[in-house]
Formats: sequence, structure tokens, C-alpha cells
Amino acid sequence: MTSVVLDAARELLRTEGFVELLPVILAPVTDPLRHTADRAVIEAYGQRWHLTRSMIFHKQAAVTVLEKIFSFSPNVRLEPAEWGQSGRHLFEFVQLDLEVREADRNDVLALGERLLVHIVERVRGFCAQELTLLGRKLGELHAPFPRIPYREAEARYSAGFEDHVSRRAQGPVWIVDFPVGVREFYDREDPSRPGVLLDMDLVYPAGYGEALSGGEREHEPHRILDRIERQGLDPTAYGSLLAAARAGLPSSAGFGIGIERLVRYLGGLPHVREVRLFPRVPGEPAAL
Ligand code: AMP
Ligand code: MG
Repeated sequence: MTSVVLDAARELLRTEGFVELLPVILAPVTDPLRHTADRAVIEAYGQRWHLTRSMIFHKQAAVTVLEKIFSFSPNVRLEPAEWGQSGRHLFEFVQLDLEVREADRNDVLALGERLLVHIVERVRGFCAQELTLLGRKLGELHAPFPRIPYREAEARYSAGFEDHVSRRAQGPVWIVDFPVGVREFYDREDPSRPGVLLDMDLVYPAGYGEALSGGEREHEPHRILDRIERQGLDPTAYGSLLAAARAGLPSSAGFGIGIERLVRYLGGLPHVREVRLFPRVPGEPAAL
């Protein structure tokens, strides 16, 4: 099923004019991801290299030369050992990370819907036997998916609301407009609504949880610097991003969708570990 998903994603994106980039595995600077304290870093050639947590900054730089890009990007995130039981976390996983120059949030929301509808159609067509074997009834998806602003979802379901939304949903649901404090500095703050981000998550139904995160990006150097400082991060750690922004980064929007979580949802599997032959589950040793 995973091969069918990868083929279907490539098919749609290539048809829409995207260029596939080979992934970056080691990088001097990577996604800050403040929720993950542990840092996977190696030292070589007199420099520190992070194992990539996402290709966000590479995507922003890549769209200066290519309008639409994607990559199947292996990410290493040393999540807490207890998350190994969540069903949703590996410490090595792959995300389909994509970005579009001069796109806005609505453009990438619609792209996310086309992508999921297409993948589900292909999986229903090519994996009928596998779905039967798994006892999984996978219905067609219908776009557009409903959108709930973060503050509204929070008021309705209180903390941890993504789980509530996911458990009650009949199909995928967008959560939009995250408040500035809960996301990373590169999600663009709405100039007309300070404190509100032009970003989104997609949540799977039936309790499968978060599918993807994305949004519009901060690309102007003074705004990036302001956000880095407001988050209490060290601007010197993001010197190369700020230099790229001063040289001129275009506006862009995009998202990253986790492949193992997508296949878990499609197959109705209990844990993302089932998707990988060599799963890297937080807190568990591996033999190979
Ligand atoms: P993020 O940038 O943290 O939103 O990650 C992008 C996407 O990657 C998420 O929406 C998930 O689908 C997937 N993802 C994030 N962390 C993990 C993890 N530890 N294990 C598996 N998939 C993940
Ligand atoms: Mg996320």
C-alpha cells in the first residue's frame, strides 16, 4: 500500500508541475520544533550537522529557483520514549514535504484536498485485496473538507481538542488560524490579525489524529527576526536563513504530510510501526 501511496502522490504532483528534490538528511540548520528537546547532531569537518527534522528552510530556499517542489524527506526526531505507545510517533519517519512559490493558504489547502482525494482513489482501486484482508472499509473522500478555526475548536472541546475533533469527525477536517505562541516562527502571522497565523493542520477522522501541518511562510528578514526573538530563540543559530531572506526569499506556502500516518489511516492500522519493515519506535531498541 505504501508504494501505491508514493506513486499516487508523485503522479498528482508531477501532473501539477511539481519538481521532486532529493531529500536533505544532514543540515547546519533545521526546524526548531520546540516540543522536541533532544537534538540529533553529528560533528564532521569541523561543523555540527543536524539530522533533518523537516526540510522547511530548504523548501523556502528552493522555491527561489523552482516554483513548485516536493521531497520525500526522512526526518529524525528524538521524541520522548512514552510517545512510542501513541500509535502515531516514530523517531525516524518520512514526510512528503512540499512548497509553492507565491501561493497562499487557500491554494495549498485545495492542493492538500486534491492530493488526499487522489491517493484514496488510487488505494481503493489498487489495494482492494489488501483493504479486504485488513477488514478496512475505506470510503471515497469528498472535498472541500470542513474548516474549524483553532480558537473555536479550543472553546468547543478545550485542551487536547485535536483528538476530540479527530474522534468525532466523519472525514478529514482542517484546523486553521493557530495562535502565534503554539507554532514555530516560520508560519506567517496574518498582517491584519496580529497573533493569528495563516496556517493549518489537517486531522484524520476516527481518532487517527494529525495528518499534516502547513501554511504560509514568513519570508521577510525583519519579520523572521522578530518572530525568532519573540520565541526566545537565538538569532545567530538562524544566521543562514536570515542571510537568505535578506538576499530575497519569495513568499510561499506549503505543508508536510507524514507518510506512515497516512498509510496507517488508509489501512486502519493500530500503530505507525506496522507501516515500516524497520520501524524506529521511541524508547524501543532495534536489532536491524
Ligand atoms: P510537523 O512539521 O511536526 O507538523 O510534522 C509534519 C507531519 O509529519 C505531521 O503532520 C505528521 O503527519 C508527521 N509526523 C510528525 N512527527 C512524527 C513522528 N514522530 N512520527 C511519525 N510521523 C510524524
Ligand atoms: Mg504538526
